[in-house]
Amino acid sequence: MIPSPRIPSVDALLRDAALAPLLADYGRSSATAALRQVLDALRAQLRSGTLSAAHTAPAAIAAQVQQALERRHAPRLKPVFNLTGTVLHTNLGRALLPQEVVERVAQAMTSPMNLEYDLEDGGRGDRDDLVTDLICQLTGAEAATIVNNNAAAVLLTLGALAAGGEVVVSRGELVEIGGAFRIPDIMAQAGCRLVEVGTTNRTHAHDYERAISEHTALLMKVHTSNYAIQGFTTSVADAEVAALAHAASLPMVVDLGSGTLVDMAAYGLPPEVTVAHTIASGADVVTFSGDKLLGGPQAGLIVGRKDLIARIKRHPLKRALRVGKLTLAALEATLRLYQHPETLAQRLTTLRLFTRPASAMQAQAHALAPLLQTALGSDWQVTPSPMRSQIGSGALPVDSLDSFGLQLRPASKTASVTQLQERLRRLPRPVIGRAQEGALWLDLRCLEAAEQDEFVAQLPSIPAQT
Ligand SMILES: *Cc1c(COP(=O)(O)O)cnc(C)c1O
Repeated sequence: MIPSPRIPSVDALLRDAALAPLLADYGRSSATAALRQVLDALRAQLRSGTLSAAHTAPAAIAAQVQQALERRHAPRLKPVFNLTGTVLHTNLGRALLPQEVVERVAQAMTSPMNLEYDLEDGGRGDRDDLVTDLICQLTGAEAATIVNNNAAAVLLTLGALAAGGEVVVSRGELVEIGGAFRIPDIMAQAGCRLVEVGTTNRTHAHDYERAISEHTALLMKVHTSNYAIQGFTTSVADAEVAALAHAASLPMVVDLGSGTLVDMAAYGLPPEVTVAHTIASGADVVTFSGDKLLGGPQAGLIVGRKDLIARIKRHPLKRALRVGKLTLAALEATLRLYQHPETLAQRLTTLRLFTRPASAMQAQAHALAPLLQTALGSDWQVTPSPMRSQIGSGALPVDSLDSFGLQLRPASKTASVTQLQERLRRLPRPVIGRAQEGALWLDLRCLEAAEQDEFVAQLPSIPAQT
């Protein structure tokens, strides 16, 4: 009978030279925990009779411990390649910040900053003041305040201006944004009563008018960011709702969702209503996101009439929802790029991605196709192909941008799109595409030249099909 292999003790292994580098790199407690885990697995193999002596050598054990430690210490939040074709992909982190913005954030992380310190008189400052002037210049609003995201902006605005009262909204605008944000739920949380007017497809001025009573706190419009109602439809323009509100001495609030600061059409993109236009139409308060079309950090911007913004800032929720210095550093640096509209499309990452011409992606697709074909072998057919990208994050849900990319189509019985997606997700920098029409589509809009080498370099590491 072959004698069963012997598993060395924890103590003996901790003294063994094979484990010394791991103790130094990861620390004694982490390395010991990983070692115990590996030894438990070996003992289980021993009991089931599947353990071979080769696996019990200190060097072999050390190699397994190293793997376990690398897995355990690998960052959970890591870069991926967004080849989904959706530029502002909420699940992939929305807007990417320009490097010059990142440098300002890094500075705010490592240096003391005048976050709430008035450098003129040495007294206490207000963190909103760091960006208020810029935001007012860019939107035409009188005042502004910043919170954690647009959902928080809506919650705070309603809580401060409408708690205990009624808020009139068109039925066609009771939106749900990605699961947990629903206008009716936010209303309830803010302590106001929702009064729905009109129908899903048609709301008229007289619907608003009839709903106004002594309980009404404000009229609200919500940008239908992530859907479009088409066909037999009527909605009431911002200016008209504002006029109705003002006639009744009520404020008109607009949740603009994405809210762009510049005319997208000027950059050859589908038009989207700007914050400035909404303010000029008579809205008293407008809320929008920092990390959608604006292209900055996650934040919620609330802009509008001075007296209303002052009430919003005094509400206790403002303190709970305020942003930190990293967000303000990123937001200020992003907004500064807007002071120079001529260079915006080059310097603001999101706008640069939106405006990449399809011909750039087409050239990339032709360069990458043979490399990907070699990496995937004959089970797959890799074809450069025109496709359409989305702006994403509920901006311009219907419009899309001409793009180009690669279609990976199964060319054998064993090739599976789902499995290929999983293999690409297991790469050091996971590649995320979209499954469509029986193929995996890799839209190259978000693969800029600076990152293409990294993409190519890891192609040989695509895990084999199982
Ligand atoms: C995206 C969006 C929100 C939520 O904004 P976040 O910044 O994600 O919190 C709210 N309302 C509308 C209309 C939106 O489009």
